[in-house]
Amino acid sequence: MLHLGAMTKHDMPAQSGCRIGDNAPQPIRSLREWLDHLEAHDRLKVLKPGVGLRFELAAIAKRLDGRSATLFPKPGGHPIPVVSGLISDRGWMAEAMGVEPADLLARFEEAALNPLPWQEVKSAPAQEVVHREIDLAKLLPLPTHNEHDSGPYITAGIMITRNPRTGQQNVSIHRCQLSGPNRLGVLLLPRHAHMFFEMAEQQGAPLEAAIVVGIDPLTLLASQAIAPMDVDELTIAGALHGRPLPVVKCLTSELRVPAEAEIVIEGRFLPQVREPEGPFGEFPQYYGERGDRHVMEVDVVTHRKDAIFHTVGGGGLEHLLLGAIPREATLLAHLKRNFPNVLDVHLSPGGIMRYHLYVQIKKRQEGEAKNIMMGAFAGSFDVKHVTVVDDDVDIYNPTEVEWAVATRFQADRDLLIVPESQGSKLDPSTRNGVGAKMGIDATKPLSADEMVFKRIRVPGEENVDVERLLSEQGGARWRDAVKD
Ligand code: MN
Repeated sequence: MLHLGAMTKHDMPAQSGCRIGDNAPQPIRSLREWLDHLEAHDRLKVLKPGVGLRFELAAIAKRLDGRSATLFPKPGGHPIPVVSGLISDRGWMAEAMGVEPADLLARFEEAALNPLPWQEVKSAPAQEVVHREIDLAKLLPLPTHNEHDSGPYITAGIMITRNPRTGQQNVSIHRCQLSGPNRLGVLLLPRHAHMFFEMAEQQGAPLEAAIVVGIDPLTLLASQAIAPMDVDELTIAGALHGRPLPVVKCLTSELRVPAEAEIVIEGRFLPQVREPEGPFGEFPQYYGERGDRHVMEVDVVTHRKDAIFHTVGGGGLEHLLLGAIPREATLLAHLKRNFPNVLDVHLSPGGIMRYHLYVQIKKRQEGEAKNIMMGAFAGSFDVKHVTVVDDDVDIYNPTEVEWAVATRFQADRDLLIVPESQGSKLDPSTRNGVGAKMGIDATKPLSADEMVFKRIRVPGEENVDVERLLSEQGGARWRDAVKD
């Protein structure tokens, strides 16, 4: 449905400097606090005990994806419960930050630019229970998600590694396949953790790593920040929390991990070792292929006495949103630097929150939409199709964007195609990540007569109180209503 003539909350440019005031809601700082919040808002469904870990748990979580988070007691008979779908809605993420949805991207970008150093504590709930005999399938309730996944995976663990040269930490999320009792097959894409591994491997040394499962939504989101190397994303989590993140030293390494976490898996990436990993259901709704990948050997597992395990369904909304919000925040900041008239950006769900970018602008100049498209392509290689619209189009409503394309776009003059450029390797229509970019300028011409692109509206429609009117009518039958 079009919101005909109505202003939307997204019409306004994102505010900068939206600090958390004394009276504003506080950010959420632990998984338990977040579960309380979800339960208080009737968004947490507790399932019957004993739901199966192979597909059954993922199937239920997926049916409730975007509506309710799920908690599974004794999954597959395991004493540790599993939660899923914790942040499968943008509005929930704004609530976790304690801001309005319209301020979500600005708040994230502000935190990314103003990280807060963490604070070390001597003892932590995350280390209440220590296991040194490692059989991961026995210690943890590891679900299998999609039909052709190679087996159980850890999907919601933040991986903490350390630059062997500088000692600075990195935080990232990777799919981790259960490959043996104390062995995980891990997909390390060529980013910071991968660089650290290469530095270690060149010295013939292992790379220490810790996988932390069961953390608050803001630390999860911070792990996906597009930050420079040697920015420890835990410091961005601290900024989002509005106070330094308490961390504790690992038992087997110099790594510092969130003290409030539920579960910590400590180990090392082995140099010169690659083993098969995959296939695994990924965010584009296809399987990431099987290949020889990095191997992490686990030495110690620590957890809270009554630990909770978090799983993210491969390709579910939680998976998509975790990547989307930091990307949107970065793309918005990047575009605004050169184009101050860019009001907002959105990675649409239909474009799996990576490939389709909608950009809302206050148009000043013909041709500028095409410059903005090129800026967006340069901002993230995942961005494949960019649609630029005017400020009267709600970019969070795909029907509105389609309406703008239908009525303000002409393919012979408003289309930009860039052949043979770098895209996402997980897009199966590319040749190993090489493919075309497309930009669609769906803005109206500045020279157009005002009435030509004037949106129709019925005066007063937005003020009609439908519920009140219908209840006053009292549900009369039409024959009675027209009598006399
Ligand atoms: Mn990083």
